[in-house]
Amino acid sequence: MDDPWDLVVVGSGPAGSATALGALTADPRLRVLLLDRADFPRDKACGDGISPDVTDVLAVLGVPGLLDDWAPVRRLELARGEDRVSRPMRRAVRVVPRTVLDHRLLAAAVGAGARFERRRVRSVRSRGDVVVVDGDIAARVAVGADGAYSVVRKAAGLPPARRRAIALRGYVATPPRWSGLQVIAFDPHVTQAYAWCFDRGDGLASVGYGAFATDGLTRAALLRRLGEVLPGAEDGTDWRGHHLPLSSWRWAQPGGPLLLAGDAAGLINPMTGEGIHYAVATGALAGRAAAAAVSAGRPGSAGGRYRTAVRAMLGPHLRHTAGAARLSAVPAVLRAGITAARRDQGVFDDLVDLGLGQGRLTRHVLAGLARALTPR
Ligand SMILES: Cc1cc2nc3c(=O)[nH]c(=O)nc-3n(C[C@H](O)[C@H](O)[C@H](O)COP(=O)(O)OP(=O)(O)OC[C@H]3O[C@@H](n4cnc5c(N)ncnc54)[C@H](O)[C@@H]3O)c2cc1C
Repeated sequence: MDDPWDLVVVGSGPAGSATALGALTADPRLRVLLLDRADFPRDKACGDGISPDVTDVLAVLGVPGLLDDWAPVRRLELARGEDRVSRPMRRAVRVVPRTVLDHRLLAAAVGAGARFERRRVRSVRSRGDVVVVDGDIAARVAVGADGAYSVVRKAAGLPPARRRAIALRGYVATPPRWSGLQVIAFDPHVTQAYAWCFDRGDGLASVGYGAFATDGLTRAALLRRLGEVLPGAEDGTDWRGHHLPLSSWRWAQPGGPLLLAGDAAGLINPMTGEGIHYAVATGALAGRAAAAAVSAGRPGSAGGRYRTAVRAMLGPHLRHTAGAARLSAVPAVLRAGITAARRDQGVFDDLVDLGLGQGRLTRHVLAGLARALTPR
């Protein structure tokens, strides 16, 4: 084995590239190795909705304006059957295919000094004061950013996320009625399931359907539900499915030199399926924690530093989204949420922050829900 790398990152999606950028913006002299089983550009099943919070994190990581050439989408429509609200969002989102986003982010990480190698990682073990990857790569600190089926998570001794969703994504020529919009249409017949149509602004729209993962939920069944909830969306191409490990009330990260970020850390918003913001935000924190631990000469302190940073940033938000996801499983509450958001732009804005950013269940939202639930 050669000299240990300061940091080895397994997986080079948004969480992995953000980890490398987080470490290298903290200390450009670090030796950082990024690994991925895929060559880039590569596709990933995703609705491609990039929240403004993602752009904020990328600016701090030294890559401002990375997606400025993609059209901003300013309006969001939420629907459940006949109940519906369509309003401008406080800040625009962008809808950018993962072939573009992930490739640009990886290029930025390599530009900042990381080395990229294609490799499907099979084993990760702590041995003495280093982490050994596949028996032949040594690291002072290693970060698992290897997605929903993470091998690093298993190696860290953590169980898979308890609650998982499954979703199928395709692309259609943007139907005129959905032009310039992000549409989320909850399935009135399936609890906590929704179909989406997100206009990319380049003539195509990302469409798909996601639901809690249960036995027997086949691709054909997902497509059928999509066609019923958003007729026409099922005519897409490039279908891809994937699991979503949903975040819960609690978030665990062991101490030591092995860290988990993004989907590998079980961080997807249980209300909306948003995961890219968590991926880049936790990646940035993991990279910084690794840099601080290495420069202090105590790589084993990285896990503890990282845990503290993530809990400070996301702890209350994760508890609020877990609570809100439970509440929205009750159809009357979901309907009340749509009604309250239709009546009040402030409620709408707070719900968007909760679903796509780091927001909380505010008093304003709770008061709006209470009013909408009270018979007139
Ligand atoms: C259908 C669908 C729609 C979604 N829509 C949205 C959306 O609109 N907006 C949003 O914010 N989020 C969305 N999400 C969630 C989002 O896709 C994820 O949260 C995000 O991709 C997490 O990024 P990541 O870097 O943690 O993992 P990934 O993007 O999955 O990247 C993991 C990387 O690790 C690599 N890898 C895996 N195993 C190994 C291995 N053993 N060795 C080496 N490399 C490995 C993979 O090749 C991959 O490149 C959606 C998810 C799904 C499934």
